Amino acid sequence: MSAFARAEYIPPDAIFEVTKRYVADPDPNKVNLGQGTYRDEKGNPWVLPSVREAKVQLGEGFHEYLPIAGLQQFRDEAVKVAFEGSKALSEKRIASCQSLSGTGALLLAGLALKQANSGITTVYITEPTWSNHDLLFSRLGFEVKKLPYYKDGSFDFDGYINTLQEADSKSAVVLHACAHNPTGCDPSHDQWKKIASIIKTNGVFPIFDSAYLGFNSGSVDEDAWAIRYFTEDLGLEACVCLSFAKNMGLYGERVGLTVFATATPETAITMSSILANVQRATISNPPAYGAKLAATVLGTPALKEQWSKDLVTMSSRIKAMRQKLYDELLKLQTPGSWTHLIRQTGMFGYTGISEAQVVYLEEKHHVYMASTSRISIAGLNESNVAYFAKALDDAVR
Ligand code: PLP
Repeated sequence: MSAFARAEYIPPDAIFEVTKRYVADPDPNKVNLGQGTYRDEKGNPWVLPSVREAKVQLGEGFHEYLPIAGLQQFRDEAVKVAFEGSKALSEKRIASCQSLSGTGALLLAGLALKQANSGITTVYITEPTWSNHDLLFSRLGFEVKKLPYYKDGSFDFDGYINTLQEADSKSAVVLHACAHNPTGCDPSHDQWKKIASIIKTNGVFPIFDSAYLGFNSGSVDEDAWAIRYFTEDLGLEACVCLSFAKNMGLYGERVGLTVFATATPETAITMSSILANVQRATISNPPAYGAKLAATVLGTPALKEQWSKDLVTMSSRIKAMRQKLYDELLKLQTPGSWTHLIRQTGMFGYTGISEAQVVYLEEKHHVYMASTSRISIAGLNESNVAYFAKALDDAVR
């Protein structure tokens, strides 16, 4: 009998399929609001000026292996993105390991929590959330439970904390550090404080999925507020999963970092050893080029300053498109309320239209988006925003 006789076909990932259909569509007016990748005002992928210069500075190099835990200079610089000036850093209570972008960071986090005999058996994620959270943590053998997150166009704070109260010390919770995917609704500082107090009281382990630091508001410090509140103000242990896909535009280079902020320096040493061990068992050692680029940007003062400007360029363009879309819908007197589009932040807009309307938009207007009604605002620009608004108007009438 074939080894594959009992294998069952698994349907492809929905969002990558949206991209495929978009690419295959010959219509000149087509609009891609599916995958969350930044596009410039002409709708093209954007190499950040800071990264462009880092490439020049790096020039030709060798292609040697990195150490198992990754490029030391990258790890040191990337940790500072989340923990600059913190006690965790000065007291050496930080363990880190370079990862395959944000996804790989979550993978190492889950593997390390298992290897550490943490006793954590359940991982709480939000409903809705980035589609890979459920897949990744359930594949690792955790029980995945869901926290209601979205109601009437806003963060469902009451629903969220009522369910979070049920979590205990055998649980971890995945927190979107900023720019919640897909809803674009983040807790306020006061709401974060309440969430943190439940997590602290119940002994739940926080995992910050931090795929958008700096990309959301244009300021890394502002976007890392919750991470710093939990780890610095409350002194909680936490995991921070960093990705440089969006905030440095290094999507395909797979640049990320798993960080554990621990209670003692001794624990940090232990967790470093565990991270290296789970890395070795899975990918042996991480890719070099993107990490070298990110390390050059973060470690060269002039390039770091340019990066701060690049973050503002990207986040401001997205904010402007959000507003423009809203204004167009208002102009068209599109039925329904659309204020949630300008209340939300980050790369995504959660439109709230039905799945049938999403299909209609694709078939009739060549507009491509996730079936959940999520749009990537970064796919909008001066040339297509009015077209999209008209298409949306038509779809909801
Ligand atoms: N987490 C969230 C919430 C995301 O939206 C994404 C990307 O879309 C990721 C993690 C990880 O992305 P990557 O593995 O490309 O860094």
